[in-house]
Amino acid sequence: MLLDVDLALRKLVRLVRGVAESEEVSLADAVGRIAAEDVVAPIDLPPFDASAMDGYAVRATGLNHERLKRFTVVDESLAGHVAQRTVTKGTAIRIFTGAALPVGADAVVLQEDVARRGEAIATVEPVQADQHVRRRGHDVRRGARLCQQGRKLSIYDLSWLAACGIGQVCVTRRIRVAIFSTGDELAAAGNPLETGQIYDANRFAVSSLLREKGASIIDFGCLPDDPEVIRRTLLEASLGADLIVTSGGVSVGDADFVKAVAEEIGSLDFWKIALKPGKPLAVGRIGDALFFGLPGNPVSTIVTYLLFVAPAVDLLGGGQLTPPLTLPATIDHAVRHAEGRREYMRGVVWVDGDGLMVAATGDQSSNRLATFANANCLVVVPESIGNLKPGDTVGVIPFSGEAGHPMRGPAG
Ligand code: AMP
Ligand code: MG
Repeated sequence: MLLDVDLALRKLVRLVRGVAESEEVSLADAVGRIAAEDVVAPIDLPPFDASAMDGYAVRATGLNHERLKRFTVVDESLAGHVAQRTVTKGTAIRIFTGAALPVGADAVVLQEDVARRGEAIATVEPVQADQHVRRRGHDVRRGARLCQQGRKLSIYDLSWLAACGIGQVCVTRRIRVAIFSTGDELAAAGNPLETGQIYDANRFAVSSLLREKGASIIDFGCLPDDPEVIRRTLLEASLGADLIVTSGGVSVGDADFVKAVAEEIGSLDFWKIALKPGKPLAVGRIGDALFFGLPGNPVSTIVTYLLFVAPAVDLLGGGQLTPPLTLPATIDHAVRHAEGRREYMRGVVWVDGDGLMVAATGDQSSNRLATFANANCLVVVPESIGNLKPGDTVGVIPFSGEAGHPMRGPAG
């Protein structure tokens, strides 16, 4: 019986215990980290009533709306330089964008809407109270929540904090992830390939994706298919890491030792997931560390990383399981697909008329990193349907960020 992807994610949520430790970091170091506590606004933003435009500050309240109004300009208010005079009936203060609204004023008349001669201005349009005024606190009120504990902090979130004068934020500490690849066939870059050898792609992919998520990496390198070496390394990794992520050695071949060793020294939940690519996935615990044994084919490694490891890192950091943003798109071509497994193809999505069209990036074999080369999304073919014909609707999950993490949907 294959395990449904969504069910597997729910099991994951139950399995993960978030780390409790947090640290104060500068905003610059907080991008992508998870807020360890709620952050509230220490001030009203904007902190004072301000002009949204260049023009003249006047008092609209009490003006009758006859066509022509005259005012005498008595002072000026620039951003950072507050006017000394107040506005009274019949007077105006020259004002510029971002400058504090002078006492007595409640509206700004655009400079292009007035006729000026010397210190006298005339306006033809009726003046409404509040026009072109940014009221104190209309962005956020002092004491209101800027972000919630558990939120992954984006540059936009942090910009809001910066606008409120906040320089430091409390985030959960970085998740420590131990990684290694397994396989007697793996060679290191720079060394010529012997017959039967291939280069290790997975350690680069997994460590880079993890680093982009703000994890810190403990890299144990490439391990041979030797149960003793794998055992020793897993035990050592479990002492210093919150999470261990390996690749290869989790299917049923003669040299697949990772699963057996992890089972022996830890507790393992072996998931045969209704997923293509990436059916076999070993998930469990070794000591206090969460463990993922990912399949070895690079595309399977990356897809299982995106679907399961990336959310686990968020959960470990105290974040939530946020489903990826999935958009409906029309498939451009036929797809052979067996019912019963959900398939995540790599694809190119584009806008066509009012909707989205998508095409897979060629032969989707799980060893072909070429399928990622021009991809800008994952194409989801549900488990409930068989072959697709051109014009059928599928889901697409756009990639975001330099490393192409799936774009997350709104937090649940
Ligand atoms: P395994 O899961 O160990 O049976 O490996 C499945 C396939 O992925 C085999 O063709 C391996 O040679 C290949 N493979 C395993 N690890 C890596 C790696 N780190 N980089 C590239 N290919 C790999
Ligand atoms: Mg192997």
